[in-house]
Amino acid sequence: MALKTGKDYLKSIEELDLEAHVLGQKTGDLHEHGLVAPSQEAVAFTFDGAHDSETGDLFKAVSPLCDDEVNRFTHLHQSSDDLVKKVMMQRYCGTKTACCFQRCVGLDAANAIFSTTFECDAKHGTDYHQRFKDYWRWVQLEDLVVDGAMTDPKGDRSKRPADQADPDLFLRVKERRPDGVVISGAKLHQTGMLNSHEILVMPTLTMRPGEEAWAICAAVPTNHPGVRYIYGRQTSDTRKLEDSMLDVGNPVFGGQEVMTVFEDVFVPHERVFLDGEVDYSGIMVERFASYHRQSYGGCKVGVGDALIGATALIAQMNGVAGASHIRDKIVEMIHLNETIYSCGISCSTLGERMPAGNYQVNLLLANVCKLNVTRFPYELARLATDVAGGLLGTMPSAADLDDPVAGPYIKKYLAAAEGFAVTDRMKVLRLIENLVAGAGAVGYLIESMHGAGPPTAQRIMISRQAGLKDKVAQVKRLLGID
Ligand SMILES: Cc1cc2nc3c(=O)[nH]c(=O)nc-3n(C[C@H](O)[C@H](O)[C@H](O)COP(=O)(O)OP(=O)(O)OC[C@H]3O[C@@H](n4cnc5c(N)ncnc54)[C@H](O)[C@@H]3O)c2cc1C
Repeated sequence: MALKTGKDYLKSIEELDLEAHVLGQKTGDLHEHGLVAPSQEAVAFTFDGAHDSETGDLFKAVSPLCDDEVNRFTHLHQSSDDLVKKVMMQRYCGTKTACCFQRCVGLDAANAIFSTTFECDAKHGTDYHQRFKDYWRWVQLEDLVVDGAMTDPKGDRSKRPADQADPDLFLRVKERRPDGVVISGAKLHQTGMLNSHEILVMPTLTMRPGEEAWAICAAVPTNHPGVRYIYGRQTSDTRKLEDSMLDVGNPVFGGQEVMTVFEDVFVPHERVFLDGEVDYSGIMVERFASYHRQSYGGCKVGVGDALIGATALIAQMNGVAGASHIRDKIVEMIHLNETIYSCGISCSTLGERMPAGNYQVNLLLANVCKLNVTRFPYELARLATDVAGGLLGTMPSAADLDDPVAGPYIKKYLAAAEGFAVTDRMKVLRLIENLVAGAGAVGYLIESMHGAGPPTAQRIMISRQAGLKDKVAQVKRLLGID
């Protein structure tokens, strides 16, 4: 088995020949599309990391499933050290790409499904775990990208799946056949879907007796003819289609989110990992969410590094780097960013071995991590906006920079501290704009709020995991209260 390089990966995705609706057009050759190509470059980065002599150790791990080295983005964690390395690798990718690199969602799904199927089989006598092991071994050997697809459209949030006006508002099993199931529905907001080889669908919430049709976990190839894709818009996305890369902010990398529709998709039994066992649907959701909440303790910290670097640089370019309040604001950004990282590392260090043999994060600390992520990147963005100045929202375009009349004015009036080129100052401002208000803010801010569930979901988990009764009992013991 050979670990793919970024180039191998790009070729393999091109060969899938996926089509999507992009900005109102049915579009093929997605790798050539200006909106899609930067997101594929970001995924390719996760492959190249395994071949770089400086990062190879971080990006590779030995998998007991195939007894060989695999890319860590497909690894089933064998120790808390593996969990820590995952977070470190994600930070590295975030720092270097300054965007969402889209590959952790499948890794988090796999670790959750691996342990859940083991326990489900023990109770129900099913054979999901062996099926999943066979499937995931193949994923590891082929070094594939897998999209973890949990989020259903959900319709009226006050109603259960069966009570919705349309039963497809939660992805469901529509038909059972002797050799498999037919699924119907959709998954929204899918990160990197069109850059993936495979999709792992999972239930979106804890299902109850009577909701067996919605308790489905299965693997579907992205090039299955019944799966349709509608590309998500990002703020200022069409800047990526312009001639100059300056106004894009991030000239190389970008994220991707896709509405994904399953139109009567047949899934053979060997690709089904939960089908109607409602008592394991919530366990799967909780585990996937917790791994993913840990993930944000790495990836968002890396993007935070890029924002902090850009903020410190623009302060130098503006001639304010020495001011005490500016230094203090940058220290505040670092403090918030490292607080998130501390949570990502600590929930990993305190990870536990599951009965299936893989390691799970500490649930309480993973949820504390993500709850911080729903706030701190917004505060980092606020501080970066403060330090950068109003040009962040009012700067003329790159096209005007090249204009014989406007260009010289821009160069004259956007000059700031000596020794810095105006174009470089514009580049830095555009990167900050990208992260706080542009295409990059989808991954850095909106995803920080909603990805892996909105803040209330973490609060519920924290209240369940915190052992509040024990704390009360402890105080009573201390004070001699009955
Ligand atoms: C950039 C981005 C990338 C993402 N990537 C992925 C991905 O790769 N895979 C994936 O599966 N998902 C992904 N998601 C989806 C993410 O998990 C969801 O957005 C999140 O779970 C929130 O669901 P929602 O968007 O439907 O919002 P809602 O669930 O509608 O939440 C909106 C608000 O309503 C509240 N609310 C919701 N239901 C109720 C209720 N019954 N009672 C009271 N209050 C309620 C919530 O607490 C929240 O405050 C992504 C999201 C984003 C933004």
